[in-house]
Amino acid sequence: MCTLGHGSSGKVYKVRHKTSGKIYALKVIQEKHEPSVRKQIMREMDILQRARSPYVVRCYGSADKGGEISFILEYMDGGSLANVLKARKQVSEPYLAEVARQVLKGLHYLHINKIVHRDIKPSNLLINHKKEIKIADFGVSTILASTLAPCNSFVGTCAYMSPERFDPDSHGGNYSGYAADIWSLGLTLLECATGHFPFLSPGQQADWPTLMLAICYREPPSAPDHASPQFKDFINVCLQKDPKLRPRACALLSHPFITRGEGNQVDLSILLQSLSI
Ligand code: ADP
Ligand code: MG
Repeated sequence: MCTLGHGSSGKVYKVRHKTSGKIYALKVIQEKHEPSVRKQIMREMDILQRARSPYVVRCYGSADKGGEISFILEYMDGGSLANVLKARKQVSEPYLAEVARQVLKGLHYLHINKIVHRDIKPSNLLINHKKEIKIADFGVSTILASTLAPCNSFVGTCAYMSPERFDPDSHGGNYSGYAADIWSLGLTLLECATGHFPFLSPGQQADWPTLMLAICYREPPSAPDHASPQFKDFINVCLQKDPKLRPRACALLSHPFITRGEGNQVDLSILLQSLSI
C-alpha cells in the first residue's frame, strides 16, 4: 500500500480494489477516539456519502473497526493544492480563477444542501489529471481538532478559520457557518497567489496564540499590489471580518475575477507538471 499523505488526523493510502482493479484512496484515522466523537464522525461521513457533486470528492463507504475509522474515497491522482504549492511556490491568476470557480461550485452545492465544510484549506482541495478540483475531507478534521488541546497540531486546521469562529459568544448559526467557508477560500487563494500563509511572512513560524490573535485583531490580509483589481476585490470581499458582509458562493460565481476568463479554456494540468506523479 502506498502512502499518499498524512495529516493531523490519520494517514491516506492508495489502494486497488482486487476484483475491479479500480484505484481508491483509503483514509484511516488511527487515533482511537471516544465513542461520542466516533459517532459524530460517522454521522458526518453519512452526509458525505450522500453528497454527489463533480466538485466534491466522493466517499464510497466507511467503517469503524474497533474504534479505528476508515473511509474509501475517490482517488485524486494530482494530490492536493498544498502539494502543488510546495512544488510551484505560486499559482498565477488565470489558474487561480479556475480553481476558485470549481471550489465555489462545490461550496455552492454543499451550502444549498445545508452542509458547511469548515475546513477549506490547500490540503483539502484535491486535483486530478482531468483538470478537476474537488473539495475533500469535510467535517472530519474539524470534529477531531475540537477534541485536541490547542497545540501545534491544531494550528494546521485552525489557521484557515474565520475570526467569528474564535468568538465564544458567536453561536455561529447557518449564515456565519457558510461565510466561514468563504473566508477560508479567500485565505487559501491568497496563499496560492503569494506562496506563503497570508498572516505570516515567508518562512515565519508562529505558535497557535500568535496566529489566533493575528486572525482576530489584525486587519485582514489583502492581495499584493501587482495583483489585478478583480483579484484584489475578490480577496477583499471574501476576507471581510463581518461574516454577514461576505458574499455567498453563488454570488461569487459571477464576480468579475471568475467571469473575466470564462470562455478561455484554462488548462489546470499545468499545475500538475511540477509534481512527480
Ligand atoms: P490534511 O488534509 O491535514 O493534509 P489528510 O489526512 O486529509 O490530511 O490528507 C493527507 C494528504 O493525503 C492530503 O494532503 C493529500 O495529499 C492526500 N489525500 C487525501 N485524500 C486524498 C484522495 N482522495 N486522493 C488522493 N490523495 C489524497
Ligand atoms: Mg485533509
